[in-house]
Amino acid sequence: QHIQVAIDGPASAGKSTVAKLVAKKFGYVYCDTGAMYRSVTLKAMHEKIDLTDETKIVAMLKQTKIAFTPGDPVQHVFVDDIEVTDDIRQPEITNSVSTVAKLAGVRHELVNRQREIADVGNIVMDGRDIGTAVLPNAQVKIYLIASVSERAERRYKENISKGINTPLEQLKKEIEIRDQKDSTRKVSPLTKAQDAIEVDTTSMSIDQVVEKITKIINE
Ligand code: C5P
Repeated sequence: QHIQVAIDGPASAGKSTVAKLVAKKFGYVYCDTGAMYRSVTLKAMHEKIDLTDETKIVAMLKQTKIAFTPGDPVQHVFVDDIEVTDDIRQPEITNSVSTVAKLAGVRHELVNRQREIADVGNIVMDGRDIGTAVLPNAQVKIYLIASVSERAERRYKENISKGINTPLEQLKKEIEIRDQKDSTRKVSPLTKAQDAIEVDTTSMSIDQVVEKITKIINE
């Protein structure tokens, strides 16, 4: 039986930063499921497919290879062998991804791929529905939250380091809109699994969050 650590939570709560460090610490595989939804969105936009056209997007996805390779500080993401690591983090993708993520056919296909990745060995997987839908039997389920202001500030700093300068107030609004869309969709909406442990990271450092999750895993 492999060990599965599911980390879910709203946008910009620090899930991927923390999940990656926890995976490294334990020697587990890390899987960023948000990057998969972002990759589908990027390719669909690139091919000028209407983002609400489920039939077309699912047909496209079935012909699309999404791959990860480990890297520091970020893992590298490839769509059909082309690197898209930076492209999938651009604001226009971030603000459109929820539209694609609500399509049942897209979720069905990506959840299957996520389970295949988890079948290989011990894993830390982060997303919105990992503890509730993708890996419902995960031994460890964490639900990471932080105040909207804190999350907007983190995103702001992250953006600045990449040369993107979106006003803080706008980021706050975008985060709220994305959370609203992700938590109200019909299929696997963002919600805390009944057996997940909630960790509020608002006034915690990254190291403190990693430490806290390490303790929970070791319990
Ligand atoms: O985690 P990240 O912010 O990169 O996720 C981008 C978007 O992908 C989310 O806002 C959500 O719409 C979608 N997503 C999802 N289910 C997951 C992971 C991400 O619906 N497991």
